[in-house]
Amino acid sequence: MLNRLTISELSARLIKREVSSREVTQACLDQIARVDGQIHAFISHDAADALAQADVADKAIAAGASSSQQPLLGIPVAVKDVLAVKNQPLNCGSKILGDFVSPYDATVIEKLKIAGAIVFGRLNMDEFAMGSSTENSAFGVTRNPWDTTRIPGGSSGGSAAAVAADEAIATLGTDTGGSIRQPAALCGCVGLKPTYGRVSRYGLVAFASSLDQIGPFTKDVRDCATMLNVIGGHDRRDSTSVAHAVPDYTKALDGNIKGLRLGLPKEYMIGGLDPEVKAAVDAAVKQLQSLGASVEEISLPHTEYAAATYYIIAPAEASANLARFDGIRYCARVNGADPIELYSKTRGAGFGPEVKRRIILGTYVLSSGYYDAYYLRAQKVRTLIRQDFLKAFENVDAIITPTTPTAAFKIGEKSDDPLQMYLSDVFTISCNLAGICGVSIPCGFTKSPKLPIGLQLLGKPFGEETMLKIAHAYEQSTVWHREKPAL
Ligand code: GLN
Repeated sequence: MLNRLTISELSARLIKREVSSREVTQACLDQIARVDGQIHAFISHDAADALAQADVADKAIAAGASSSQQPLLGIPVAVKDVLAVKNQPLNCGSKILGDFVSPYDATVIEKLKIAGAIVFGRLNMDEFAMGSSTENSAFGVTRNPWDTTRIPGGSSGGSAAAVAADEAIATLGTDTGGSIRQPAALCGCVGLKPTYGRVSRYGLVAFASSLDQIGPFTKDVRDCATMLNVIGGHDRRDSTSVAHAVPDYTKALDGNIKGLRLGLPKEYMIGGLDPEVKAAVDAAVKQLQSLGASVEEISLPHTEYAAATYYIIAPAEASANLARFDGIRYCARVNGADPIELYSKTRGAGFGPEVKRRIILGTYVLSSGYYDAYYLRAQKVRTLIRQDFLKAFENVDAIITPTTPTAAFKIGEKSDDPLQMYLSDVFTISCNLAGICGVSIPCGFTKSPKLPIGLQLLGKPFGEETMLKIAHAYEQSTVWHREKPAL
């Protein structure tokens, strides 16, 4: 069962030539054949191409390539259907792109390839990353590997489910308001949203450009650090990426968190928080204290405005970004008598209901007469939310919260009630508005049914090292990350 191992476990065996990349890749492909009919994490994958890449990696290993230079050499990594991979389809979980094929690699993909990864598969997602359940995909619903009657979270539901079901060793997703951390929590894996600017967005189809970040899903914190080492860094093709040095994030994982100060925001332990989630987070707090960290209550007073602020800013940016899907340069065009009719028919047929809702909301809050009342005011509140965090970080090294208010809900449970769906993001949204980093790690299970619960750690801007150090110390002192769904 090579597909069940982590990057670090596999990498050691690959380099010693105890196993080949072809065997590891084949193990992932076999698992997809065995379970993806139930899970539907993948929209598509090209097995022959993946094996051909594996053979190239095996040749490089035979020729003496080193894992210090190529930390992902021979490791199969699958990607969310919103990232451009040269010569592979790119649909963003939507019908509107038709048979579009990417002409170039996103920067993160280029980096994965340079690091030796086998980049394969298109992972299912909510259309244009808008959603929290992966039910808004034109390619069907993805199911939670722990209970296939439940959602895997979203929008990167395919990325989380593929790691949880051992169909890939690691995956990439994107997080605009929680789309990495929330599905990671609900599927029981590790998911990291880097600081805004840590990872280049070049080659990522934009949803809300001031919030979007690409990040990894992995089976443990060490692999998460390895992935961030590979994908992090400045890129001249993305002016919002920051020229901040990329440390070796794995070096920080020494298990020693004595004396670190953690903040527990009182605004997050609210009504609506499931008692089993609360109990798991309370137990995690005690565990962190027993490892030598101190925990104090803190306040992030503008938390209650985060969801409202996000659901103005994100749709506003989306309405502008999605204007390019007009049937002229690309897209599955539906012709009309004149250009206006062509646009409206193409967009009417191509976008699903949630994307249309966001475009309508976004266009409204940006329209003259409402711009000041909604968009401008939301931007001001966003600044207050960021200031709350910066102030809190004067006294604490990281913040701990539940990742989600409840464990995975049933498929269909919230799809008729957009507001309830939006509220499932309450704990993850502020991090994007503030531009800081966050990671979700497994911290327990509900009893019946047995569903994963996630602990969220939030770090200072470019504070991924300390955040991962804490996440790793906690993980290594607990057993949650070792549990596997019965598939
Ligand atoms: N669930 C949130 C939304 O629908 C966040 C999505 C995301 O992070 N891409 O906007």
